[in-house]
Amino acid sequence: MNGSNEAKNTVSSLASHERVLVTGAGGFIGHHLVRFLKNKGCWVRGVDIKEPEYSPINEADEFLVLDLRNFENCETAVRGIEKVYNLAANMGGIGFITAVKADVVRDNILINANIVEASRLAGVKRIFYSSSACVYPKYKQGDPEVIPLKEEDAHPADPEDGYGWEKLLSERMYLNFQEDYGLEVRIARFHNIYGPEGAYDGGREKAPAALSRKIALAKDGDEIAIWGDGKQTRSFCYIDDCLEGIHRLMESNFTGPLNIGSDRLVTVDGLVDMISGIAGKNLKKKYELDKPQGVRGRNSDNTLCKKILEWEPAISLEEGLKKTYEWIHVQVSRANKA
Ligand code: NAD
Repeated sequence: MNGSNEAKNTVSSLASHERVLVTGAGGFIGHHLVRFLKNKGCWVRGVDIKEPEYSPINEADEFLVLDLRNFENCETAVRGIEKVYNLAANMGGIGFITAVKADVVRDNILINANIVEASRLAGVKRIFYSSSACVYPKYKQGDPEVIPLKEEDAHPADPEDGYGWEKLLSERMYLNFQEDYGLEVRIARFHNIYGPEGAYDGGREKAPAALSRKIALAKDGDEIAIWGDGKQTRSFCYIDDCLEGIHRLMESNFTGPLNIGSDRLVTVDGLVDMISGIAGKNLKKKYELDKPQGVRGRNSDNTLCKKILEWEPAISLEEGLKKTYEWIHVQVSRANKA
């Protein structure tokens, strides 16, 4: 049921000066993708409901502030475009997506349906959809020593309530557009992407950024708050690996959903220890058991990714966390001085 194409894959090279649209270009992955595609020689239009927070607006050849829940705005966004990278979404970390469900589902269904329909009508050749590991069923993620998740594990479905259901439905909707209208579709399931130049406070930040902020603000010997008992596990994929994965998948012939994530499992305690080590601080941990923790364990099985893309994420967690922590440390220090 995942619409996958097992035919021999070929990763072609991106034609330079291709006209591409990145939706969600004001957000974390989107603005990094704008830079990445510009460096590949594309003409890039960025669209978001807000201007980029952490990068100059003129990194894109054109940046339009548009609300993509509105169909006419989607028609404007895709005009003259050959390839669409749809990353726009109302989303955040586990605290956000467990607290805000109706708005997340409504907004993201509207964005995804409007963008794919506008793309079809405008004759867009290919569209990328950013799905999530939150589509995987809860019954396969009840143990910290989780078996890594393969793409086919998404069914029978029991995804994250709200956000995960929306991602799973949108995956199917995009594949239906491919089947019925011939619009070429590529779908990635991201597993915890992290890096500099993304949300680190305000409630939408994810664990690596939230912990980096807390550790940057702490003094040696302080106690920092950790959501859950610290024994829950995840894998974390650095942004540069994510961009390479998006690019390879978009230029491949593979049409089914594909994991883009690291397969190195770490506990949240382990993550905290790594960031504290980078910061050179000795910190005590205070476990907040009433805070949302998500599933008990989640990891990416990269067998299909390696086969299809002849590649898998390679940047070490130590290296990625160092860059992330250093950037967040600078932001926090600046804010404290202001
Ligand atoms: P992000 O929140 O930083 O970026 C999403 C962007 O979409 C934001 O800039 C936001 O303003 C924009 N947006 C929201 N509503 C909009 C609207 N109505 N019209 C136009 N733009 C709108 O998130 P991100 O981490 O960059 O995630 C990008 C995509 O990848 C999302 O689809 C997300 O669900 C998916 N994803 C991300 C992760 C991750 O770990 N970061 C994991 C799984 C899936």
